[in-house]
Amino acid sequence: MQIIDTDVLIIGAGIAGLRAAIEIARKGKNALVVSKSSVGKANNTYLAGGLFTVSHGNFNRDAHLEKTLSSGRHLNKRSLVDKFVNEAPSMIAELQEHGLEGKFFFSGFATRGVSFIGGPKISSVLVTSCHKVGVGFLEDVMVTDLLVKDRTCLGAFGFHKRTGDLFGFRAGAVVLATGGAGAIFSEHDNAPGMTGDGYVLGLRASLELIDMEFVQFYPLVYAGAGKARMIIPAALGDLGEIKNRLGENLKEKYALHDKPIAIVSRDRFAQALYREIRLGNDVDGALFLDLRKTDDATIPGSPGFKAQLKKLISYDEVPVRIAPVSHHTMGGLVIDAEGHTGIENLFAAGEVVGGIHGANRMGGNALSEALVFGALAGSSAVEDLPSYRTPPDIKAMLDRHAQRSFHSRVDKNTKATEGPHLMKQIGQLMWKKSGILRNGTSLKEAATSIQGILKEALEQRAVNPWELSKLIECTHAAINAYVITVSALERTESRGSHYREDHPLEDESWKKNIHIKMSEGLPEISRVVVPR
Ligand SMILES: Cc1cc2nc3c(=O)[nH]c(=O)nc-3n(C[C@H](O)[C@H](O)[C@H](O)COP(=O)(O)OP(=O)(O)OC[C@H]3O[C@@H](n4cnc5c(N)ncnc54)[C@H](O)[C@@H]3O)c2cc1C
Repeated sequence: MQIIDTDVLIIGAGIAGLRAAIEIARKGKNALVVSKSSVGKANNTYLAGGLFTVSHGNFNRDAHLEKTLSSGRHLNKRSLVDKFVNEAPSMIAELQEHGLEGKFFFSGFATRGVSFIGGPKISSVLVTSCHKVGVGFLEDVMVTDLLVKDRTCLGAFGFHKRTGDLFGFRAGAVVLATGGAGAIFSEHDNAPGMTGDGYVLGLRASLELIDMEFVQFYPLVYAGAGKARMIIPAALGDLGEIKNRLGENLKEKYALHDKPIAIVSRDRFAQALYREIRLGNDVDGALFLDLRKTDDATIPGSPGFKAQLKKLISYDEVPVRIAPVSHHTMGGLVIDAEGHTGIENLFAAGEVVGGIHGANRMGGNALSEALVFGALAGSSAVEDLPSYRTPPDIKAMLDRHAQRSFHSRVDKNTKATEGPHLMKQIGQLMWKKSGILRNGTSLKEAATSIQGILKEALEQRAVNPWELSKLIECTHAAINAYVITVSALERTESRGSHYREDHPLEDESWKKNIHIKMSEGLPEISRVVVPR
């Protein structure tokens, strides 16, 4: 096993991890970013549309604050939101200075120009800035364990997904920036590996998760290209008619009149489409957005953008197939307003963190929030760096983790694992029983089945490191599926993105956050009243 020493280890190379690394290197400390996917690619940052919600002009700080809290149905942690809205403008200005091109619009900044997605530009600007300040990178390495002793984080263990090389990281501090768990639903628009690994690393280190029942479902993705799901610009939802297989007008049927419907009525729109699919009024899982009678001049975007859109979805020729998908995990690790977790020397930022968005995320807040808390986590990590005379001896801990997470799980003589098959089962259970529309019975069924799948996944062995990485993702998906499901079962009301068919109304007495931690493999739930 190779042991690597660094001042700060950052796990995750999306917007949060990259911004944290820049902060650390700028402050003169070694920053090593380790990612299970290629750096700057194959994550949700890369796929992002590129909208940053940020105050400017008439959309002032108070307006941003108010919109964030009302979208979150007032479950947001106020200290985090205050910090976020205060710091976001300078973070966006800095990205522009680093070369990110874009335009301000009413409530924010958009990087999307001619290109369909803005994420690649964001990633490349951040990666270039990282290289300039000397950040180190290690890609295709999956971190499976945090090294925690006496509630202090000393580093991490991981393995290379292709070669099987083992890595022990000894670090003064660790920043978790592993993103969300949107990919554990069968229908999603996330990068494939978004299985919420950081939630499980945190749970295993005895940290708490908050608000895990709140998963955002996006109503408007293109469903005409097989399994590949691509977001359609939200404005198109207002311009065309939305119909089912029978030709019924769904905006009328579900009274979806507030515009932009894919932004302000995101939940109700996703619920309406899901209901239609469940009623069998779909065609191969899709409904239709008919833009054929729409005046092309009203379609937003440059001529180049529209030409690309026509090529991709032929909106001028045929009704566009649309479907709802899982999109964003609002819940996550509990942090304070400086990015500290409850473990010494362990920090977290980005979609792996909970509490900022409350019951639902305002569109465009994820990217700006990940920038703000990435920088804060990086800064706090440097401030709190321990001053050891001799670095702690982690050899024995590493050997234990290597045995448990790698050696005992790879067996080249075993038959191919059931990982992909189990992952598919988790996805379908989550989509059908713990997804857009949930009820007590469906959630209980899901929880029981997921426990069975988790048991099976834990008993499996993999033939090689690549298969092991998939099997571990499957195990993480099962744990997160269970945590989301039991949190959703606990919340007997509907609020934000969480809709209970058996409790369809918001209930004032539920103005509480659900916290969850694992105790001997079982979830332990507590309700915490949101402080005024
Ligand atoms: C299609 C789409 C469009 C979106 N558009 C917007 C938008 O326009 N505006 C907006 O505000 N938000 C948008 N979002 C949400 C936003 O993109 C994400 O919330 C944000 O990019 C998350 O950033 P992150 O750094 O936390 O995680 P990510 O960018 O997902 O990065 C996570 C990183 O962690 C690594 N990782 C995970 N587990 C491990 C492990 N075990 N070991 C090692 N590495 C690991 C991954 O490989 C990856 O490098 C969109 C999301 C999607 C899916």
